[in-house]
Amino acid sequence: MVLSEQERTTDFVAGDDALRDLRARLSGPLVLPQDSDYDAVRQVFNAMIDRHPAVIARCAATDDVVTALAFARNHGLPVSVRGGGHGVTGHCVSDGGLMIDLSLMKGIAVDPDRRVATAQPGLRLGEFVVATERYGLVSPTGTVSDTGLAGLTLGGGYGWLNGMYGMAVDNLVGAEVVTADGRVLRVSEDEHPDLFWALRGGSGNFGVVTSFDLRLHPVPQVLGGMLLHPFPRAREVLRFYRDVAARAPDELTVYAALVTGPDGNQAVGIVPCWCGPLDEGERVLAPIRAFGPPLADLIQAMPYSTMNTLVDAAIPSGMRHYWKQNLLRELSDAAIDAIVDRVARVPSPRTVVLIDHVHGAARRVAPTATAFPHRDASHGLVMLSMWNDPAEDDRNIGWTRELAAATRPFSTGGAYVNEAWDEKPAAAFGVNYERLVEIKNRYDPTNLFRHNTNIAPTAGA
Ligand SMILES: Cc1cc2nc3c(=O)[nH]c(=O)nc-3n(C[C@H](O)[C@H](O)[C@H](O)COP(=O)(O)OP(=O)(O)OC[C@H]3O[C@@H](n4cnc5c(N)ncnc54)[C@H](O)[C@@H]3O)c2cc1C
Repeated sequence: MVLSEQERTTDFVAGDDALRDLRARLSGPLVLPQDSDYDAVRQVFNAMIDRHPAVIARCAATDDVVTALAFARNHGLPVSVRGGGHGVTGHCVSDGGLMIDLSLMKGIAVDPDRRVATAQPGLRLGEFVVATERYGLVSPTGTVSDTGLAGLTLGGGYGWLNGMYGMAVDNLVGAEVVTADGRVLRVSEDEHPDLFWALRGGSGNFGVVTSFDLRLHPVPQVLGGMLLHPFPRAREVLRFYRDVAARAPDELTVYAALVTGPDGNQAVGIVPCWCGPLDEGERVLAPIRAFGPPLADLIQAMPYSTMNTLVDAAIPSGMRHYWKQNLLRELSDAAIDAIVDRVARVPSPRTVVLIDHVHGAARRVAPTATAFPHRDASHGLVMLSMWNDPAEDDRNIGWTRELAAATRPFSTGGAYVNEAWDEKPAAAFGVNYERLVEIKNRYDPTNLFRHNTNIAPTAGA
């Protein structure tokens, strides 16, 4: 919905003095609706989101976050928090609220001896990986380099290294967080362990994270890329893919993708990423490469930072996006049929259906060990609908919902908070929901952080 100019400005009234004072206290810029860069700064990844915050605090340091939160509390302004701005639901920007924009905070320090990177929340995955890779070390991230490190890590973090090194959240060993009452806390297994537990999957519900300590692993190169098969063989290819994924050693994480090529022909891709010794990888991947044979074999050795960019062009910023995700117990023949039947009728050639692979280290963690509970799914079915024309909204949203409903019977019933569009918080946080409510009651009893998949506090109820 697009707001009129009048609606934009009447939502929030603060005296010029208050805003001048805020501007003077921030070390980063303050952006208001009348500023020339306002439209560029409020813009997010998904063109369907067109919201107008009253105030944007472009924080440059932790103190700026403390100052901005105090301003929001004092003026009763709703708060939203932006890391990389890639949350497709656009929770990071709200009409008439105060947006805490962390995208200028891009500092990173790598300690190669401890194998830990301390990263600020404005970093994109690509920036983070390139900085750690200089030391021959990487941490599990997602699959698209432009995605924000902050939101991805706080929600879970599916990606190419999950089988060997777990989810992004499993590699978070400490953080600095500004809580709703303005305290700056260091959290880890030893300091505020309850809050540390909640941050690892609880998304933006518990405070503004101003730095992340992430465990690093030596990965000199990976063996990866895409094997492209014709869509008419999609059922056979996906069954083969399922069997490969089920047998995969930890070093091999393998996705599948259903896409439409620039020539208008649909195709199905198998996308492996091997992160162990390369010669062993060549042996493990040989039968996967021989299957078909594929129309194209784009597998090669590359740095992890390159693997991280392979699907960038397929999921661009600035389009209209509507996404759903089902966590699948298994990729049964019936599930494959349900997927292929709907994808054959996809309304937009830009839409991508991705099948993530969740296994190995990511599944050996107990569901209650971190706030991220989804350790029982073997695959994530991610329906990434993308189109440009607003007149096509209903058609694309309808198709996505239909595919989600058709594959729901094969799902665990859980929802990944980072890809949940209109899912219930109970589905996103599952078995951990009640404990998360208790922690929310302690750290954010007034629900200052509510522009998210919200864990509503009960303390004040
Ligand atoms: C192109 C693309 C590819 C993706 N690929 C993957 C993938 O491979 N694996 C995967 O797991 N997910 C993936 N995702 C989903 C991704 O994890 C989420 O969109 C995530 O929210 C992005 O984080 P962000 O910081 O960019 O988003 P933002 O929109 O900035 O933030 C999302 C939410 O996170 C919270 N938040 C952000 N930063 C902070 C902070 N510093 N402190 C407290 N709360 C904060 C806020 O509640 C905010 O509303 C992808 C998304 C896109 C658009």
